Parts: sequence; C-alpha cells; structure tokens
Amino acid sequence: MFPSARRPILAPPQVKKYYRVTVDTEQCDGCSLCTAFCPLDVLEIGAETNRRMLHFAVVANPLNCLGCDQCQRICPAAAIFVSEVATELEVWS
Ligand code: SF4
Ligand code: SF4
Repeated sequence: MFPSARRPILAPPQVKKYYRVTVDTEQCDGCSLCTAFCPLDVLEIGAETNRRMLHFAVVANPLNCLGCDQCQRICPAAAIFVSEVATELEVWS
C-alpha cells in the first residue's frame, strides 16, 4: 500500500472559543493563587482595593483565556468564575 499523495488545499477550520472570566471583587482576598496558577497570564492583582481594603484580582488579558478552569478551582474564596461565550464581544461584557 502506497501512502496517499493527496493533501488538503486549505488548513482545516479551527474553532476559536472565547471565555469570560469574572472576579467578584468584594469576595476576593487578593491571595494571588489564581495569578500564580493561570498558565496564560490572564489575571493580575490590581492597584485598587475593595471595601475590605484588599487588592483584588483583575482580568488583564481576557482574550488569552483558554478556559482551563484552574483559577476557578484553586480560588479559596470562590470569587472567580469562567464561562464560555459565543463571541469576542461577550468576553468584555
Ligand atoms: S480559565 Fe485558565 S487560562 Fe483562563 S483565566 Fe483561569 S487559569 Fe487562566
Ligand atoms: S485566588 Fe481567588 S481570592 Fe485569591 S486572588 Fe484569585 S480571585 Fe482573589
């Protein structure tokens, strides 16, 4: 059996998925676990403080998110939520 010489003319379509990451800023303790565990630097600890005077996590690079859920699972305060959205626009809403 000879290997086929046929090759695709176009690359197969890649389905781009988008994720919205939301931080409950009042619930967040600013422990930095999510920023340490996010493999894509989506999150960082911001300069602002919440009502408990704690710096909270902010979503710095939302389009980098691949929806791995690590941040959501690691957060001890249950202050971070990841959900898949249909379009890039919804990432920011
Ligand atoms: S879901 Fe994964 S990639 Fe997205 S912010 Fe959380 S840890 Fe980072
Ligand atoms: S892991 Fe949770 S509590 Fe800690 S900084 Fe991230 S969102 Fe805030």
